[in-house]
Order: sequence, then structure tokens, then C-alpha cells
Amino acid sequence: MPRPLEALIHLDALHHNLQRARDCAPDARVWSVVKANAYGHGLQRVFEGLRSTDGFALLDIAEAKRLREMDWRGPILLLEGVFEARDLEWCSRMGLWHVVHCDEQIDWIAQHKTEWPHHVFLKMNTGMNRLGFKPEAFRSAWARLNALTQVDEVSMVTHFSDADSPKGIEHQVRVFQQHTADLIGERSLCNSAGTLRHAHDPAVRGDWIRPGVMLYGASPDYPEHDATHWGLQPAMTLRSKLIAIQHLQAGDTVGYGSRYAAPRPTRIGVVACGYADGYPRHAPDGTPVLVDGVRVPIVGRVSMDMLEVDLSATPAAQVGSEVTLWGRGPTIGGQTTLLSIDEVAQHCGTIGYELMCALSPRVAVEVWGGHTT
Ligand SMILES: *Cc1c(COP(=O)(O)O)cnc(C)c1O
Repeated sequence: MPRPLEALIHLDALHHNLQRARDCAPDARVWSVVKANAYGHGLQRVFEGLRSTDGFALLDIAEAKRLREMDWRGPILLLEGVFEARDLEWCSRMGLWHVVHCDEQIDWIAQHKTEWPHHVFLKMNTGMNRLGFKPEAFRSAWARLNALTQVDEVSMVTHFSDADSPKGIEHQVRVFQQHTADLIGERSLCNSAGTLRHAHDPAVRGDWIRPGVMLYGASPDYPEHDATHWGLQPAMTLRSKLIAIQHLQAGDTVGYGSRYAAPRPTRIGVVACGYADGYPRHAPDGTPVLVDGVRVPIVGRVSMDMLEVDLSATPAAQVGSEVTLWGRGPTIGGQTTLLSIDEVAQHCGTIGYELMCALSPRVAVEVWGGHTT
């Protein structure tokens, strides 16, 4: 029998979350962001759940190729644009749209020979200070692109640094609007946090939204709002089983470094999941796990292949009991139990994004809710 650890990808959740994004930004089109192998879920695996999207946005030409091989004929956007002049050949061949964020990329386009003029998304740096033209330099870059025969459409894009937090987006929206007001072209501003919190404003919504993490059912502004508040469903469940039980006396310790000492006689469950599976090694004591749908705390250091939990809250647990590391747990009394990846991440000092992206290739993955062949 294989190790009992597996990740489940829920196609119904992806579909539902995509619809949530549409509800937040009616009349905008949706770039489903599938960079980083669809945030660790697997590009092929999420494809069916997201195929009603208007386009896919990602970083890697190799991932764009995989989408075309899956017969996706619709728009694909390279969010960082091309990394060298040669990449433009692939854009021409596969009809990829690409972000233009610096003068070098315009130089490469100007020298590129193609029969198929490109659709580009010119990026403005409105305060994130990562990629994009300064507002003062934006207009001349726009004019330069529009004059090129290699380019047939110039859209405009910016990225928010604080869409999830109190600082907000107003300062960036103001700069973007001020410097694009009379320029012709479509606009795209919102990531997940922008979509959920700000896209009710048509000026912020623009023509295209770019939701990523919300499609996978994590909240971009946890703990202010959790996924349930936003009506999102987890697209990934990481689940395993108990493979051993230990009975500890008061003072006995658990795992490497004896980090945890039992204050009283305690039943401990050993879970087949460790940091080599992508579970964070720095998870502290108290990080929640579900055993048979009941919340129990991690005790002791996470090791490479295993972690331990205190079973006091679920005395009936035994070898073979189902363990949910995050996502959907078993149904109890007609109610599906849930453990949010955001909550686990917060205990570990990180965000749901990082945990889902870190799922290790050694974890078996099963897609649920699709048409199996
Ligand atoms: C990753 C990314 C997104 C999606 O961000 P989420 O917070 O996951 O919604 C949108 N736009 C750009 C430019 C990105 O790099």
C-alpha cells in the first residue's frame, strides 16, 4: 500500500471560486492566474475547473506551452513579459500576450520580425516599485509601442502593493488614472484582494481582473477576512492517516529536540506527513490538524516524513484514522469539516500562498469532480 498521504484537487471548488471572482467584477474579463504550476495545484489538474475563464496568466513560456498542448486556444498573458529577445518568437508562434515593463523589452519588440502583431500589456509602476514604467515615463512608452508595426494592441496594467491592507489602493489608482486618462486601451489592476475588496468600483475593476489565490480558495486578507467570509471553497485538501499511537507519561517528550513535554499522561498520534511533503517544518506546537474531523494540536517538531498530534480531544482515534492537514475534512452530522490553509499558515508565520505552492512532488495527487477516463 502506498503512503496514506495525498492531496485532493477539487474541480468544483475552482469553478465556484472563479464564479465568485466574476460576481465581484461583473462585466470584467478574468485572467485566471496559474503561475507557479497553478499555485502548486498542477496546471493540468486545475485546467478543467477553470476552463470557463477568459484567459490564463502565468510567467513561464514552458507553462504557456503546456496550456496550448491542452488545446487552450484563448488568451494567455505572460505577467513578467519576455526575459530575452528570443522569447518573442514563442509569443508570435503561440499567440501569447505579454507584459512590457521596461525599455529593453520595447527594444526587443522593435527588432522582432513577425507576421503576427502582438497584444501587449504596458505596465505602470504606481508605487509597488517592482516592475513597470514610472508614471512620467509611461506615456512615451505607450506612444513608442503604438508606433511599432510589431504591436497591434496596447493594454495598460498596474499592480497593487496594499490591496489587502488598510493602506489600500487609492494612492495607486489615482496615479494610474491620472497618467492613463486619455490613453486608448484596456486596463487591468486587480489581484484577488483588489477583486474582493475594491472591484465594486468600476474604475478599479477595469477590463480585466487578475485573481490568483482566491481561485484556490484561500483568503488574500486573512485574518481580517477568512475564505468563508469571501464565499471561497478550498481547492486543495491535504490529507493523511495516523500510522501509530504513543502513550506518554507526564514528562515524556515528543520528537527531535524534545520540544514538547507531556504535562500529563497523553495519547499521541503519529501522522504520515512531514516537511519533505511541503508541510512547514517550523509549525509550532498548537498548529491545528483535524483527526476524524476533530481539531487537535501538533506537538513536537515536524520531521521529514512525520508529525505528531495530541489526541486528547478525540479519544476514539486510532491507527488508520483520517487526518486533514488543510482543506476539506470528513463530513460529521451532515456538515463537511474544514481546516483553512490560511489558519495553518498563520500559525507557521506565513501565508496560505506559500503552503499551497510548496506541496512537494512526492505527494500523490488526485483530482476530484472531473470526468475521469
Ligand atoms: C500573482 C499575480 C497576481 C495574482 O495575485 P493574487 O494575490 O494571488 O490574486 C495578479 N497580478 C500579478 C501581476 C501577479 O504577479
